[in-house]
Amino acid sequence: MRLNFVAPARRLVSRKFASTANLLATTPRPFGGAAFLYTAHARCYNPARKRSFRGRDTDGADGSGGFPAAPGPDMGRYAQQTTIARPVIKTGIGLHTGARCIVSLQPAEANAGVVFAPESGVTIPATADHVVDTQRGTTLGANGSTVGCVEHLMAALYAFGVDNVRVEVSGPEAPACDGSAREWVELLKEAGVLPLGAGRRVARLGKVVWAGDESSSAVAAPGGSGLALAVAVRFEGTVADRQSLWLRLTPRRFAKQIAPARTFALDRELKGLQEMGLAKGGSGENAFSVGPEGYSGVLRFQDEVVRHKALDLIGDLALCGRRFDGLVVAVRPSHRTNVELARALRAHFESAIAQEEAARSLR
Ligand SMILES: [Zn+2]
Repeated sequence: MRLNFVAPARRLVSRKFASTANLLATTPRPFGGAAFLYTAHARCYNPARKRSFRGRDTDGADGSGGFPAAPGPDMGRYAQQTTIARPVIKTGIGLHTGARCIVSLQPAEANAGVVFAPESGVTIPATADHVVDTQRGTTLGANGSTVGCVEHLMAALYAFGVDNVRVEVSGPEAPACDGSAREWVELLKEAGVLPLGAGRRVARLGKVVWAGDESSSAVAAPGGSGLALAVAVRFEGTVADRQSLWLRLTPRRFAKQIAPARTFALDRELKGLQEMGLAKGGSGENAFSVGPEGYSGVLRFQDEVVRHKALDLIGDLALCGRRFDGLVVAVRPSHRTNVELARALRAHFESAIAQEEAARSLR
């Protein structure tokens, strides 16, 4: 079946139709085939536009340098939340543990979010607050239970607009698959995406949000509709000394340009990773290595390294727990920096919600 794309559907709904309530789709059904035109984005309504946000945050105290504030922070556009249409399963080995791992994706109700459910019975919301480790991957944890390497699955869920899903996990981490998100994309195509009828709020940044330090940094700024990324990496002394990319994220671009990019490691790091007990499941089947003279195998893209970094960034940003419009610029991104940015974004959006609710209570 064809997987339908949320972002193109969004573009079908012009702002001039914002008040046309009958654009609201009322019957949940899986996307697919001619249902492409069935929009999950029924209404574009920006409550903040009714009251001016201009002038806020213009004193530069927040790092804005005194420039006029972008409209917001506000909770921007509205659309419908989604889940998957049917359960699907993926099995494989974990990249770091080499253990057999099974992931079962189950449909979930509106407002449930993405929740990981390991065999311990603990449930772990997929938010930056629950990240317990960022060494060579992003690990979520709660009450002593953890699930590792969630970022490629999270990136696919975000790119395809899946808001609510229960991720049941058997094993210590998500399967490595082929080291990329390609198999997760295929799995979501198999599952289908189902609009739930409940509103989804796409957040808009009200200021520039920073994370990282001089060795790795990421900045999120207001701008445009949807998520745009600019990513630059430097691995001095290797063939991947400088690589960069820019793209505005759509499901189609994600599937074609980002999802197939595989995990990699630097030749000089491999011994250290093994000594740390990591990469036990790593092989030419799911990763490649980068050295001073070349790569360990045939690449899928000439710039596969930076594309994989973009994949990891999208997956980690998804842990802010909310879809948002904006531009993210990442220079030498790492899981640690990505998650730090997701955490800061989460705090920013929560403060926007609190401001909205306070304003509403005063009316
Ligand atoms: Zn990765």
